Amino acid sequence: MKKITTIAGMALLLLTACGQNHSTPMNSTHKPSVVKSEEEWKKILTPMAFNVLREHGTERAFTGDYWDHHEKGTYVCAGCGQPLFGSETKFDSGTGWPSYFAPVDDSAVVENTDRSYGMVRTEALCGRCGGHLGHVFPDGPKPTGMRYCINSAALKFEEK
Ligand code: FE
Repeated sequence: MKKITTIAGMALLLLTACGQNHSTPMNSTHKPSVVKSEEEWKKILTPMAFNVLREHGTERAFTGDYWDHHEKGTYVCAGCGQPLFGSETKFDSGTGWPSYFAPVDDSAVVENTDRSYGMVRTEALCGRCGGHLGHVFPDGPKPTGMRYCINSAALKFEEK
């Protein structure tokens, strides 16, 4: 019984830290400018990127390419190539997911209320293709105090 409690606790912790697989449709009024069918996305994305971007999946913590990545450059959307986060806004959150305190500009990332799993969280989506990136939490460092908790699979890195 103790083991089950521990596993449930860990699952809740992971869920709270960065989300979980779900397929809640976007309820934002934002309309993506890059629109493709599910089949078209499947052709151009890796299975993991498809799961995150198009099916709102979450990669396991400490498994992605970028949680411990410290090069200088820009993280772009793995779906449409739009610049999303600069390396100068990246910080070590200790969560196992790449974390940033701000996007490159106001239109790069769109936020949406996510009410799945009995929680109210803020989902982060690519402003151009509507792909699911991760979640936003108000416990980040200065200057914004925000933490954009993003799946590595939703990103590609472009060196400066
Ligand atoms: Fe995109």
